Amino acid sequence: MAKGFNVLFVTSEVFPYSKTGGLADVSNSLPQALNSLGNDVRIISPKYGQLDERRLQIHEIKRLKELKIEVNSKETRFSIKSSFIHGRNTKAQMYLMESNDYFKNKGIYQNSKTKKDFPNNDERYLFFCKAVIEILEILQWKPDVIHCNDWQTGLIPAFIKTIYKNNPYICDIKTLFTIHNLAYQGNFPKSTFAKTGMPESVLTEKGGLHYGQFSYLKTGLNYADKISTVSRKYAEEIRTNKEFGCGLEDVLNARKKDMHGILNGIDYSIWNPTVDKLIPYRYTYQEIPLKYENKRELLEKYHIEFDEDIPLIGVISRLVDQKGFDLIEKILPKLMKEKVYMIILGTGEEKYHKFLKNAEKKYKGKLAVHIGFDEALAHHIEAASDIYLMPSKYEPCGLNQMYSLRYGTVPIVRNTGGLADTIVDYRKPNGNGFLFEKYDSNELFNTVKKALNLFNDRNKWNKLVRQGMSLDFSWKVSAQQYMKLYKEVSHK
Ligand code: ADP
Repeated sequence: MAKGFNVLFVTSEVFPYSKTGGLADVSNSLPQALNSLGNDVRIISPKYGQLDERRLQIHEIKRLKELKIEVNSKETRFSIKSSFIHGRNTKAQMYLMESNDYFKNKGIYQNSKTKKDFPNNDERYLFFCKAVIEILEILQWKPDVIHCNDWQTGLIPAFIKTIYKNNPYICDIKTLFTIHNLAYQGNFPKSTFAKTGMPESVLTEKGGLHYGQFSYLKTGLNYADKISTVSRKYAEEIRTNKEFGCGLEDVLNARKKDMHGILNGIDYSIWNPTVDKLIPYRYTYQEIPLKYENKRELLEKYHIEFDEDIPLIGVISRLVDQKGFDLIEKILPKLMKEKVYMIILGTGEEKYHKFLKNAEKKYKGKLAVHIGFDEALAHHIEAASDIYLMPSKYEPCGLNQMYSLRYGTVPIVRNTGGLADTIVDYRKPNGNGFLFEKYDSNELFNTVKKALNLFNDRNKWNKLVRQGMSLDFSWKVSAQQYMKLYKEVSHK
């Protein structure tokens, strides 16, 4: 095994401090998995206004109080605070960046009050990227690699190679940029570029200029020493297929030899029905009847009459086009005629809030909808459902299909990205779920029908359930692959 690496893992969300989606779970669990292999991986993320210092055990660091940097030619003050993420036998140092100018309001990317993107998101994450680099020397801890994640961190590699290229403490630090979702690009008007203080050469096609805008993501992709994304299949799709490439296929193709696909892992100390404190009845693969007690309790909570023989379909998701809600909308009238229950937890676009709330009224007694973000309910839905539905248009990795497998909840997914890399057709000897090819409502409906039919054959169904529960999607393999990348990029 390679010698341990010092890695600064830079991310805009980390569970349990802040979470809108899968990045938060990965930012919690990957650094811990890497630390258990002998690395020193520390996480840094903004301290958003809603964070409760006492509950999350966030403390001051004397040396990192009242620091100053210049952003957009203005001086701004900030502090770094400390906390720790703990697993069963693992932990990771967490740094939280506190700033009255940029992270005081409640909300991660959107202001919780207005429900709109912060109008200064460009400057918020420009500040974040610059401050991350500036604290390193004060910290007196030098990373071999800065591991950047998504557009919010995209300026870091470019800063290192331009403004900091003559700074002896910074200039030889290498960067790995991981794409968690290529569709979110951090594209801003060209005028944003002037705020960065970087030389004009960065605002070109070979830098961050993207269809007339300044793109944080493209900047990251062009300047990072290596690039990765979160499944093998998605790595290939975004390079070779315009529909997935979001206008960045050429950039990615130019960097083909530096690009890798590493599947996300699951933290089985959090997502595991045998230890999950957020579900009413914990169970192993030998205790499937206890799973039905979770189902009974969840349905009762939503005033739906429980019948063990009627399958429950669960969905937990950001309510955005990517996740296939237009297909769900199309099949719902037909689906609700079947012997089936459904529960949907999500938050996102207003059009889907409306559609789901109306549907809940229309299909009372069969469909439950919870609009909002609710971690405990997400766990309960995983434990209670028989089937998990994830008909994504595209899916960089996807975590819920892997969580579902562990909870004995059989996934129905579209054959794309990380879903394709994790779910195997139920008819194969190692099958664990249901897949459909085309992004089409008939294909989806027919596939759901197949699952409902198989549910009636309990022996076969339970075999599928147990097969899923026995699989190992922990970080074991993937963390080693990241270490290999760190080694390649740092030449250590
Ligand atoms: P993405 O990152 O695209 O949102 P993933 O499947 O990778 O999708 O990860 C989604 C994560 O966010 C999962 O942990 C899921 O349980 C969680 N999640 C999504 N929406 C909600 C919600 N409304 N309430 C609670 N958890 C949610």
